[in-house]
Parts: sequence; structure tokens; C-alpha cells
Amino acid sequence: MTTRTRSTASTDSATASSATASSINTSSARQQCQACLRPQRTCICRWVTTLAPQVEVLVLQHPMEVANAKGSARLLHLCLAGSRLETGEAFEPGRLHALLAGERRNVLLYPETAEEKSLGVATPPPFDRAWLATPQQLRLVVLDGTWRKSRKMLYLNPLLQALPRLPLTGTPPSHYLIRKAHLPDQLSTLEATAYALAQLEGAPERYAPLIAAFDGFVAQQAAYLPASLSANLPASFSANSPA
Ligand SMILES: [Zn+2]
Repeated sequence: MTTRTRSTASTDSATASSATASSINTSSARQQCQACLRPQRTCICRWVTTLAPQVEVLVLQHPMEVANAKGSARLLHLCLAGSRLETGEAFEPGRLHALLAGERRNVLLYPETAEEKSLGVATPPPFDRAWLATPQQLRLVVLDGTWRKSRKMLYLNPLLQALPRLPLTGTPPSHYLIRKAHLPDQLSTLEATAYALAQLEGAPERYAPLIAAFDGFVAQQAAYLPASLSANLPASFSANSPA
């Protein structure tokens, strides 16, 4: 995975070839993995497990999440065949329309909240449970950002407001021990998507490997925390534990 070629080649690797001998060490230490876009030494690709959902997944990532080391969206994207990861806040309507186009019915993974009306967010059309019969005709649209940022994305993109919402039900507690949640039941982007896919495809266990990949990722990130912060984590969360 670490040698995968992407169009978003880093400037680090581009400059390495012309670097002087004294700067090569610095450059290679910072060299970016082309798959997960992290420095090689903190590459998360060993956790990638490939799954092929019936439901197509489109992740809309807030720009502030792109460089967030604790973010789970890129791992999610690398694990899900056919998924797309696009970055933006207020999307150009033509671009967003194109992302949402095609045969599939779009469903937004976002809870309906009481505060939306006061923000002027349009009431979404209802989710029809009959759609669950044909998950291969669905596209799950996921907003990757903090609670505040994802709400802003919804507010700024009327096309997203017009999508029916998937109500997530009966989700287990988050394994996201490295990032403070804003609500007790708030999940990481990866976890919420895994549970949503399981729900939409009527397959509770199908996405367990995705949660296992996430656990490995969380353990790796926890190892980078100062000891004072990681002391509260369960003993099982060690970066040395097997995948
Ligand atoms: Zn990587």
C-alpha cells in the first residue's frame, strides 16, 4: 500500500530526488505515504482491510480534518472499495451535484436534530425502509468533521439538506478513545459508517473487520500520546498488539 501512486503526489517525494546529500535524511524521514498521506514513520496502511460494500460510500471531508492525525476518514476510504473521499466545506453546487449523480439513491448519514429548524436547515425527506431491500442502489453520504463543522457543511450545502437521512440505531459505544467526543453517543466517522453500512445491508457482522482495523489505528495513535493522557486507556490498547 505504501507505494501506491496517487495523483496527489507529495512535494516531499518530488523534491527528494534533487535534494543534496545532507538534506536527504530529513526528506526521507518526512516522506509521505502516498496511500494514507501520512509521514512514512506514522503510516497507517498496515490496518487497511479491503471490503466491498454493496452501498457506495461518498465521504465529504471538512478541510480542517485533512491533516488531523486522529481522523479516521482516510482509513475508511482505503478500506472501502469504490468509496470516494472529497474535501470541502461549501461545495460548488455543480461539483456536489456531480458527486451525487448517477443511478444510486443518496442517503445522508446525519442525525436529525432539534436545533436545525432554528438554523434554517430544510426538513429532509423521510427515509423509506423499503430501500433496504436493494442496498446496491444506495449511496451513503458521510460528513467527516467535528460536530460543529459537519453541521456547518450541512448548513452551507442545500443539496445535502435535500437528502433523506439515515437514522443510526442501536450502535455500540465508540472505540474512539483518543478523541474527545462532543456527545456520549458520538462515533468516529469510520465507526458510524461501518454501522450504517451494516444497517443498510442488513448484515450486522459484515463490517466487524472495519471496526477491528479502527481499533488497530486507535492503538497506534494512542502510542503517540503523552503517557499522562494514554494512562486511562485500557491495557489492550497497545501499539504493539497484533492487528
Ligand atoms: Zn500509509
